[in-house]
Amino acid sequence: MKIVNRDFRVSSRQRCQMIDITSQVGSLVAQSGITDGDVIVYCPHTTAAITINENADPSVPHDILLTLEELVPHNRPGYQHSEGNSDAHCKSSMIGCSRQIPIKGRSLALGTWQAIFFCEFDGPRNRRVIVQIRGE
Ligand code: ZN
Repeated sequence: MKIVNRDFRVSSRQRCQMIDITSQVGSLVAQSGITDGDVIVYCPHTTAAITINENADPSVPHDILLTLEELVPHNRPGYQHSEGNSDAHCKSSMIGCSRQIPIKGRSLALGTWQAIFFCEFDGPRNRRVIVQIRGE
């Protein structure tokens, strides 16, 4: 099995933002020389996350962020973490810091409406995404 490790940067422009990174990940997979296997997309940050969902309609990421904000308000009595970004830490753990996607024929085996999103919860910031491509 071959393993290819890559990373790239993502710049967010809002405090909470879902950024489509499908093309960056797809390009790295295509350049890796791996035809069949899988790719792990990993976010090495405690106030951001990785998810997969629809990007055909931009109201979907909007509504996901709206729902997360309602579930986990930015300001809430009882938070103790002194940085003032407890909501971002909670959202990061709820969504998760990585996703695994199958590779078939040098391409991501995503569904028609699926996109890979970098989820920023404490921006704007410059962030890093780690991509590990494994297979034959
Ligand atoms: Zn913090």
